Amino acid sequence: MASGSLRIAVYPGSFDPLHNGHFDIIERCRPLFDELVVAVLRNTSKKDPLFSVDERVALIDEVLRDHAGCRVESFEGLLVHFMERVGARTIVRGLRAVSDFESEFQMALMNRRLDPRVETVFLTPKEEYSYLSSRLVKEVYLLGGDCTGLVPAEVLAKMPGR
Ligand code: ADP
Repeated sequence: MASGSLRIAVYPGSFDPLHNGHFDIIERCRPLFDELVVAVLRNTSKKDPLFSVDERVALIDEVLRDHAGCRVESFEGLLVHFMERVGARTIVRGLRAVSDFESEFQMALMNRRLDPRVETVFLTPKEEYSYLSSRLVKEVYLLGGDCTGLVPAEVLAKMPGR
């Protein structure tokens, strides 16, 4: 297939840390797109990160090492500008519950306004991951809870000392 017709999607987020809900969405994307770029946002407004952006990129790279067609990059600035650079036209977002809907809807419409060629698709995770969020994983971890089964093994192994 010519590279111009490749279906390239981006899955943007903070991924601090990448958890099993994120991973489930990545797996669901694999049959839908030729390439998936997991895009880690360099967001300076989020305080007290568990992992630096570079650490998150390295970790996600490790998690995706056997996933042909998936890769990870970081970006800053507008997502649509990053998409232009990597040749993507589709944004993938996960929808856990109705509570995610309003902000996701606004973001999808704003991104389409910024670049009318861009479409956002929403995927839902397996039910058992629908309550998971990076914030909750971080909280459980920092309070001494066991995060086994919440994050991929590669992430669990790198969780820094409390
Ligand atoms: P943000 O910081 O922008 O909320 P996250 O890193 O938390 O981003 O998540 C990135 C994307 O993954 C978002 O679309 C979010 O809705 C989705 N997501 C987060 N947790 C889950 C989950 N448990 N199941 C499915 N999708 C999820």
